[in-house]
Amino acid sequence: MPQNQKPTVVITGASSGVGLQAARALAQRGWYVVMACRDMTKAENAAQSVGMSLGTYAVMHLDLASLDSVRDFVSKFRANGRSLDALVCNAAVYFPLLKEPQRSVDGYELSVATNHLGHFLLCNLMLEDMKKSSLKEPRMVILGTVTANPKELGGKIPIPAPPDLGDLSGMEAGFKEPVTMIDGKQFKSGKAYKDSKLCNVLTMLELHRRYHDSTGITFSSLYPGCVATTALFRNHFPLFRTIFPIFQKNITGGFVSEEVAGDRVADLVTEPEFSKSGAYWSWGNRQKEGRQAFEQELSDEATDVSKAKKLWDLSASLVGLA
Ligand code: NAP
Repeated sequence: MPQNQKPTVVITGASSGVGLQAARALAQRGWYVVMACRDMTKAENAAQSVGMSLGTYAVMHLDLASLDSVRDFVSKFRANGRSLDALVCNAAVYFPLLKEPQRSVDGYELSVATNHLGHFLLCNLMLEDMKKSSLKEPRMVILGTVTANPKELGGKIPIPAPPDLGDLSGMEAGFKEPVTMIDGKQFKSGKAYKDSKLCNVLTMLELHRRYHDSTGITFSSLYPGCVATTALFRNHFPLFRTIFPIFQKNITGGFVSEEVAGDRVADLVTEPEFSKSGAYWSWGNRQKEGRQAFEQELSDEATDVSKAKKLWDLSASLVGLA
Protein backbone atom coordinates (compact mmCIF):
# COMPACT_ATOMS: atom_id res chain seq x y z
CA MET A 1 0.00 0.00 0.00
CA PRO A 2 1.43 3.45 -0.85
CA GLN A 3 2.46 5.22 2.37
CA ASN A 4 -0.24 7.87 2.20
CA GLN A 5 -3.03 5.46 1.27
CA LYS A 6 -5.50 4.39 3.93
CA PRO A 7 -6.41 0.70 4.24
CA THR A 8 -9.51 -0.08 2.19
CA VAL A 9 -12.56 -2.06 3.25
CA VAL A 10 -15.47 -3.13 1.06
CA ILE A 11 -18.78 -3.42 2.94
CA THR A 12 -21.81 -4.91 1.22
CA GLY A 13 -25.23 -3.48 2.07
CA ALA A 14 -23.79 -0.34 3.66
CA SER A 15 -26.86 1.74 2.79
CA SER A 16 -28.68 1.02 6.06
CA GLY A 17 -28.62 -0.63 9.46
CA VAL A 18 -25.56 -2.52 10.68
CA GLY A 19 -23.62 -2.08 7.42
CA LEU A 20 -24.08 1.69 7.42
CA GLN A 21 -22.93 1.96 11.02
CA ALA A 22 -19.94 -0.30 10.32
CA ALA A 23 -19.05 2.02 7.43
CA ARG A 24 -19.33 5.05 9.71
CA ALA A 25 -17.17 3.39 12.40
CA LEU A 26 -14.46 2.25 9.98
CA ALA A 27 -14.28 5.66 8.29
CA GLN A 28 -13.84 7.21 11.76
CA ARG A 29 -11.02 4.74 12.44
CA GLY A 30 -9.11 5.94 9.38
CA TRP A 31 -10.20 3.37 6.81
CA TYR A 32 -11.32 4.16 3.26
CA VAL A 33 -14.75 2.57 2.95
CA VAL A 34 -16.18 1.25 -0.30
CA MET A 35 -19.93 1.03 0.23
CA ALA A 36 -21.05 -1.76 -2.13
CA CYS A 37 -24.76 -1.11 -2.54
CA ARG A 38 -27.63 -1.76 -4.94
CA ASP A 39 -29.15 1.73 -4.54
CA MET A 40 -26.37 4.27 -4.95
CA THR A 41 -28.46 7.38 -4.20
CA LYS A 42 -29.77 5.81 -1.01
CA ALA A 43 -26.21 4.83 -0.01
CA GLU A 44 -24.85 8.33 -0.70
CA ASN A 45 -27.64 9.91 1.39
CA ALA A 46 -27.08 7.33 4.13
CA ALA A 47 -23.34 8.11 4.29
CA GLN A 48 -24.12 11.79 4.70
CA SER A 49 -26.81 11.09 7.31
CA VAL A 50 -24.21 9.51 9.62
CA GLY A 51 -21.67 12.28 8.99
CA MET A 52 -19.14 10.42 6.82
CA SER A 53 -16.80 13.05 5.36
CA LEU A 54 -16.09 13.32 1.67
CA GLY A 55 -12.88 11.51 0.83
CA THR A 56 -13.40 8.79 3.45
CA TYR A 57 -15.69 6.65 1.31
CA ALA A 58 -16.94 5.77 -2.16
CA VAL A 59 -20.25 4.26 -3.20
CA MET A 60 -20.07 1.52 -5.83
CA HIS A 61 -22.91 -0.43 -7.40
CA LEU A 62 -23.36 -4.05 -6.34
CA ASP A 63 -26.52 -6.13 -6.63
CA LEU A 64 -25.83 -9.44 -4.91
CA ALA A 65 -28.93 -10.94 -6.50
CA SER A 66 -27.17 -10.83 -9.87
CA LEU A 67 -24.00 -12.82 -10.48
CA ASP A 68 -23.14 -10.53 -13.43
CA SER A 69 -23.38 -7.55 -11.10
CA VAL A 70 -20.97 -9.20 -8.64
CA ARG A 71 -18.44 -9.79 -11.41
CA ASP A 72 -18.92 -6.27 -12.72
CA PHE A 73 -18.36 -4.82 -9.23
CA VAL A 74 -15.08 -6.71 -8.85
CA SER A 75 -13.83 -5.52 -12.29
CA LYS A 76 -14.67 -1.91 -11.45
CA PHE A 77 -13.07 -2.17 -8.01
CA ARG A 78 -9.88 -3.50 -9.61
CA ALA A 79 -9.90 -0.69 -12.16
CA ASN A 80 -9.73 1.93 -9.39
CA GLY A 81 -6.29 0.65 -8.37
CA ARG A 82 -6.92 0.49 -4.61
CA SER A 83 -5.64 -2.34 -2.44
CA LEU A 84 -8.24 -4.44 -0.66
CA ASP A 85 -7.48 -4.93 3.01
CA ALA A 86 -10.81 -6.10 4.39
CA LEU A 87 -14.14 -7.36 3.07
CA VAL A 88 -17.33 -7.30 5.14
CA CYS A 89 -20.19 -9.45 3.78
CA ASN A 90 -23.10 -7.77 5.51
CA ALA A 91 -25.99 -7.35 3.06
CA ALA A 92 -29.05 -9.54 3.50
CA VAL A 93 -32.74 -9.84 2.72
CA TYR A 94 -35.41 -11.49 4.85
CA PHE A 95 -38.90 -12.29 3.56
CA PRO A 96 -40.72 -13.91 6.49
CA LEU A 97 -44.23 -13.65 5.02
CA LEU A 98 -43.74 -14.94 1.48
CA LYS A 99 -45.79 -17.96 0.47
CA GLU A 100 -44.05 -18.43 -2.88
CA PRO A 101 -40.35 -17.81 -3.49
CA GLN A 102 -39.00 -14.80 -5.35
CA ARG A 103 -36.12 -15.44 -7.73
CA SER A 104 -32.83 -13.71 -8.46
CA VAL A 105 -32.07 -12.73 -12.06
CA ASP A 106 -30.15 -16.02 -12.28
CA GLY A 107 -33.27 -17.99 -11.27
CA TYR A 108 -32.30 -18.93 -7.68
CA GLU A 109 -34.48 -18.46 -4.57
CA LEU A 110 -33.86 -14.82 -3.67
CA SER A 111 -32.77 -14.94 -0.02
CA VAL A 112 -30.21 -17.71 -0.55
CA ALA A 113 -29.13 -16.06 -3.83
CA THR A 114 -28.53 -12.68 -2.16
CA ASN A 115 -27.28 -13.65 1.27
CA HIS A 116 -25.20 -16.69 0.30
CA LEU A 117 -24.54 -17.17 -3.43
CA GLY A 118 -23.77 -13.52 -4.25
CA HIS A 119 -21.43 -13.30 -1.27
CA PHE A 120 -19.88 -16.69 -2.06
CA LEU A 121 -18.89 -15.44 -5.52
CA LEU A 122 -17.72 -12.09 -4.14
CA CYS A 123 -15.51 -13.73 -1.48
CA ASN A 124 -13.96 -16.09 -4.00
CA LEU A 125 -13.19 -13.33 -6.50
CA MET A 126 -11.98 -10.80 -3.94
CA LEU A 127 -9.75 -13.35 -2.24
CA GLU A 128 -7.33 -12.69 -5.09
CA ASP A 129 -7.35 -8.95 -4.28
CA MET A 130 -6.93 -9.55 -0.55
CA LYS A 131 -3.92 -11.79 -1.16
CA LYS A 132 -2.16 -8.64 -2.47
CA SER A 133 -2.92 -6.57 0.65
CA SER A 134 0.16 -5.24 2.38
CA LEU A 135 -1.57 -5.37 5.77
CA LYS A 136 0.00 -8.02 7.98
CA GLU A 137 -3.38 -9.52 8.61
CA PRO A 138 -6.19 -8.70 6.14
CA ARG A 139 -9.62 -9.74 7.34
CA MET A 140 -12.79 -11.12 5.78
CA VAL A 141 -15.90 -10.88 7.95
CA ILE A 142 -19.26 -12.52 7.20
CA LEU A 143 -22.34 -11.67 9.24
CA GLY A 144 -24.07 -14.59 10.95
CA THR A 145 -27.13 -14.67 13.17
CA VAL A 146 -28.44 -16.36 16.28
CA THR A 147 -31.47 -17.85 14.53
CA ALA A 148 -29.18 -19.92 12.30
CA ASN A 149 -27.38 -21.51 15.27
CA PRO A 150 -29.39 -24.16 17.17
CA LYS A 151 -26.66 -24.30 19.84
CA GLU A 152 -28.30 -21.10 21.11
CA LEU A 153 -31.88 -20.65 22.28
CA GLY A 154 -32.69 -18.26 19.39
CA GLY A 155 -31.64 -20.95 16.90
CA LYS A 156 -34.06 -23.53 18.28
CA ILE A 157 -37.21 -21.52 17.47
CA PRO A 158 -39.35 -23.82 15.31
CA ILE A 159 -41.15 -20.96 13.50
CA PRO A 160 -41.34 -21.85 10.68
CA ALA A 161 -38.51 -24.39 11.26
CA PRO A 162 -34.91 -24.41 12.50
CA PRO A 163 -32.15 -24.09 9.87
CA ASP A 164 -31.35 -27.35 8.12
CA LEU A 165 -29.64 -27.83 4.77
CA GLY A 166 -30.50 -31.53 4.79
CA ASP A 167 -28.58 -33.42 2.12
CA LEU A 168 -28.44 -30.26 -0.08
CA SER A 169 -30.49 -32.10 -2.69
CA GLY A 170 -32.20 -28.85 -3.76
CA MET A 171 -28.85 -27.34 -4.61
CA GLU A 172 -27.70 -30.55 -6.23
CA ALA A 173 -30.80 -30.37 -8.48
CA GLY A 174 -29.69 -26.94 -9.74
CA PHE A 175 -31.64 -24.75 -7.25
CA LYS A 176 -33.86 -23.31 -10.00
CA GLU A 177 -37.61 -23.64 -10.56
CA PRO A 178 -39.29 -25.81 -9.28
CA VAL A 179 -36.68 -26.17 -6.50
CA THR A 180 -37.18 -23.61 -3.72
CA MET A 181 -35.11 -24.78 -0.75
CA ILE A 182 -31.53 -26.02 -0.32
CA ASP A 183 -32.82 -29.26 1.23
CA GLY A 184 -35.16 -29.76 -1.73
CA LYS A 185 -38.23 -29.60 0.53
CA GLN A 186 -41.28 -27.34 0.64
CA PHE A 187 -40.71 -23.55 0.58
CA LYS A 188 -40.63 -21.89 4.00
CA SER A 189 -39.56 -18.29 3.65
CA GLY A 190 -38.27 -17.75 7.20
CA LYS A 191 -36.29 -20.99 7.04
CA ALA A 192 -34.77 -19.92 3.70
CA TYR A 193 -33.26 -16.91 5.55
CA LYS A 194 -31.92 -19.10 8.37
CA ASP A 195 -30.49 -21.56 5.84
CA SER A 196 -28.77 -18.72 3.97
CA LYS A 197 -27.17 -17.45 7.19
CA LEU A 198 -26.06 -20.97 8.07
CA CYS A 199 -24.43 -21.07 4.61
CA ASN A 200 -22.62 -17.80 5.50
CA VAL A 201 -21.02 -19.44 8.55
CA LEU A 202 -20.22 -22.71 6.73
CA THR A 203 -18.56 -20.61 4.01
CA MET A 204 -16.51 -18.61 6.52
CA LEU A 205 -15.23 -21.81 8.14
CA GLU A 206 -14.44 -23.40 4.77
CA LEU A 207 -12.59 -20.26 3.66
CA HIS A 208 -10.59 -20.51 6.88
CA ARG A 209 -9.73 -24.17 6.29
CA ARG A 210 -8.79 -23.61 2.65
CA TYR A 211 -6.99 -20.29 2.75
CA HIS A 212 -5.97 -19.05 6.19
CA ASP A 213 -2.60 -20.82 6.41
CA SER A 214 -1.56 -20.00 2.84
CA THR A 215 -2.74 -16.37 2.77
CA GLY A 216 -2.64 -15.12 6.38
CA ILE A 217 -6.16 -13.73 5.93
CA THR A 218 -8.33 -13.85 9.05
CA PHE A 219 -11.82 -15.20 8.31
CA SER A 220 -14.47 -14.63 10.97
CA SER A 221 -18.19 -14.25 11.64
CA LEU A 222 -20.31 -12.65 14.29
CA TYR A 223 -23.75 -12.34 15.72
CA PRO A 224 -23.91 -8.58 16.29
CA GLY A 225 -26.88 -8.82 18.70
CA CYS A 226 -30.57 -8.28 18.09
CA VAL A 227 -30.73 -5.03 16.12
CA ALA A 228 -34.50 -4.92 16.14
CA THR A 229 -34.88 -1.48 14.52
CA THR A 230 -33.25 -2.18 11.15
CA ALA A 231 -34.87 -2.40 7.73
CA LEU A 232 -34.18 -6.15 7.75
CA PHE A 233 -37.68 -6.52 9.18
CA ARG A 234 -39.29 -4.31 6.51
CA ASN A 235 -41.16 -7.26 5.00
CA HIS A 236 -42.69 -8.31 8.32
CA PHE A 237 -46.14 -7.34 9.67
CA PRO A 238 -46.18 -3.62 10.62
CA LEU A 239 -47.30 -4.62 14.11
CA PHE A 240 -44.28 -6.92 14.47
CA ARG A 241 -41.99 -4.04 13.52
CA THR A 242 -43.50 -1.89 16.25
CA ILE A 243 -43.55 -4.52 18.98
CA PHE A 244 -40.27 -6.35 18.29
CA PRO A 245 -37.88 -3.55 19.43
CA ILE A 246 -40.00 -2.90 22.54
CA PHE A 247 -40.03 -6.61 23.37
CA GLN A 248 -36.26 -6.92 22.89
CA LYS A 249 -35.55 -3.80 24.95
CA ASN A 250 -37.89 -4.50 27.84
CA ILE A 251 -38.50 -8.25 28.02
CA THR A 252 -35.51 -10.18 26.70
CA GLY A 253 -32.91 -7.45 27.23
CA GLY A 254 -31.38 -8.52 23.93
CA PHE A 255 -31.71 -5.19 22.12
CA VAL A 256 -28.62 -3.66 20.52
CA SER A 257 -28.54 -0.31 18.73
CA GLU A 258 -27.47 -0.08 15.10
CA GLU A 259 -24.47 2.02 16.22
CA VAL A 260 -23.25 -0.62 18.70
CA ALA A 261 -23.75 -3.41 16.16
CA GLY A 262 -21.77 -1.40 13.56
CA ASP A 263 -18.98 -0.83 16.07
CA ARG A 264 -18.83 -4.59 16.70
CA VAL A 265 -18.44 -5.31 12.99
CA ALA A 266 -15.71 -2.66 12.81
CA ASP A 267 -13.97 -4.26 15.81
CA LEU A 268 -13.72 -7.55 13.91
CA VAL A 269 -11.98 -5.65 11.10
CA THR A 270 -9.53 -3.62 13.18
CA GLU A 271 -9.03 -4.86 16.73
CA PRO A 272 -6.19 -7.24 17.74
CA GLU A 273 -8.45 -9.32 20.00
CA PHE A 274 -10.38 -10.46 16.91
CA SER A 275 -7.37 -11.71 14.97
CA LYS A 276 -8.26 -15.39 15.35
CA SER A 277 -9.29 -16.97 12.06
CA GLY A 278 -12.20 -19.40 11.92
CA ALA A 279 -13.93 -17.83 14.93
CA TYR A 280 -17.60 -16.96 15.41
CA TRP A 281 -18.02 -14.07 17.84
CA SER A 282 -20.97 -13.09 19.99
CA TRP A 283 -21.79 -10.70 22.80
CA GLY A 284 -24.59 -12.93 24.03
CA ASN A 285 -28.33 -12.59 24.00
CA ARG A 286 -28.66 -10.33 27.03
CA GLN A 287 -26.89 -7.10 26.40
CA LYS A 288 -25.29 -5.47 29.39
CA GLU A 289 -23.17 -2.32 29.43
CA GLY A 290 -19.55 -3.04 28.47
CA ARG A 291 -20.32 -6.63 27.52
CA GLN A 292 -17.22 -8.51 26.30
CA ALA A 293 -17.15 -10.61 23.14
CA PHE A 294 -16.66 -14.35 23.36
CA GLU A 295 -16.35 -17.20 20.89
CA GLN A 296 -19.79 -18.71 20.52
CA GLU A 297 -20.06 -22.47 20.08
CA LEU A 298 -21.61 -23.37 16.73
CA SER A 299 -24.14 -26.05 15.82
CA ASP A 300 -23.11 -29.51 14.65
CA GLU A 301 -24.35 -28.63 11.16
CA ALA A 302 -22.31 -25.40 10.96
CA THR A 303 -19.15 -27.30 11.93
CA ASP A 304 -19.79 -30.30 9.68
CA VAL A 305 -16.69 -30.34 7.48
CA SER A 306 -18.06 -32.66 4.81
CA LYS A 307 -21.25 -30.59 4.53
CA ALA A 308 -19.15 -27.42 4.19
CA LYS A 309 -17.17 -29.01 1.37
CA LYS A 310 -20.32 -30.17 -0.41
CA LEU A 311 -21.90 -26.71 -0.01
CA TRP A 312 -18.71 -25.15 -1.38
CA ASP A 313 -18.63 -27.39 -4.46
CA LEU A 314 -22.34 -26.97 -5.23
CA SER A 315 -22.21 -23.19 -4.66
CA ALA A 316 -19.15 -22.92 -6.91
CA SER A 317 -21.05 -24.70 -9.63
CA LEU A 318 -24.18 -22.49 -9.21
CA VAL A 319 -22.16 -19.26 -9.44
CA GLY A 320 -20.08 -20.48 -12.38
CA LEU A 321 -16.75 -20.96 -10.59
CA ALA A 322 -16.47 -24.71 -10.90
P1 NAP B 1 -30.79 -3.86 6.73
O1 NAP B 1 -30.80 -2.56 7.43
O2 NAP B 1 -31.99 -4.27 5.96
O3 NAP B 1 -29.51 -3.89 5.79
C1 NAP B 1 -29.38 -4.82 4.76
C2 NAP B 1 -28.55 -4.22 3.66
O4 NAP B 1 -28.44 -5.20 2.62
C3 NAP B 1 -29.17 -2.97 3.04
O5 NAP B 1 -28.13 -2.05 2.80
C4 NAP B 1 -29.73 -3.51 1.74
O6 NAP B 1 -29.79 -2.54 0.69
C5 NAP B 1 -28.68 -4.54 1.40
N1 NAP B 1 -29.11 -5.45 0.34
C6 NAP B 1 -30.24 -6.18 0.28
N2 NAP B 1 -30.30 -6.84 -0.88
C7 NAP B 1 -29.19 -6.53 -1.57
C8 NAP B 1 -28.70 -6.87 -2.85
N3 NAP B 1 -29.37 -7.68 -3.67
N4 NAP B 1 -27.51 -6.37 -3.25
C9 NAP B 1 -26.83 -5.53 -2.44
N5 NAP B 1 -27.25 -5.14 -1.22
C10 NAP B 1 -28.43 -5.63 -0.80
O7 NAP B 1 -30.52 -5.06 7.75
P2 NAP B 1 -29.46 -5.25 8.95
O8 NAP B 1 -30.24 -5.69 10.11
O9 NAP B 1 -28.56 -4.09 9.05
O10 NAP B 1 -28.67 -6.52 8.43
C11 NAP B 1 -27.29 -6.51 8.18
C12 NAP B 1 -26.71 -7.88 8.48
O11 NAP B 1 -26.85 -8.15 9.87
C13 NAP B 1 -27.39 -9.03 7.76
O12 NAP B 1 -26.41 -9.93 7.30
C14 NAP B 1 -28.23 -9.69 8.83
O13 NAP B 1 -28.43 -11.06 8.57
C15 NAP B 1 -27.33 -9.47 10.04
N6 NAP B 1 -28.02 -9.55 11.30
C16 NAP B 1 -28.99 -8.65 11.63
C17 NAP B 1 -29.64 -8.79 12.86
C18 NAP B 1 -30.71 -7.85 13.27
O14 NAP B 1 -31.27 -8.04 14.36
N7 NAP B 1 -31.04 -6.80 12.48
C19 NAP B 1 -29.27 -9.82 13.74
C20 NAP B 1 -28.28 -10.71 13.35
C21 NAP B 1 -27.65 -10.57 12.15
P3 NAP B 1 -31.05 -1.54 0.50
O15 NAP B 1 -30.78 -0.42 1.46
O16 NAP B 1 -30.95 -1.15 -0.94
O17 NAP B 1 -32.27 -2.31 0.82
